Amino acid sequence: MDKYHNVMETLVINKLNEIWDTLDCCKCDKCRNDIIACTLNQMKPKYAVTEEGELYVRLCILSAEHEFEVVKAIAISVRTVSEHPKHCI
Ligand SMILES: [Zn+2]
Repeated sequence: MDKYHNVMETLVINKLNEIWDTLDCCKCDKCRNDIIACTLNQMKPKYAVTEEGELYVRLCILSAEHEFEVVKAIAISVRTVSEHPKHCI
């Protein structure tokens, strides 16, 4: 594991996994990765030192604070990727 970790990355992936089945978009790996990258580009990164235990606590706090923001950013990304699916070109 990296010494420093962008907690936002974990938050976005967790949230995406949670709502993945409800999303109306292509479900291939390429699009999934595009959605994750596109979502992370919209969020300010939050780096945390990956001390054991501490990271989990930070995640819980950040998850509650940024839930709406993350869901909104995912929705924008899904629309963007659906309109410009790279795997189709
Ligand atoms: Zn796709």
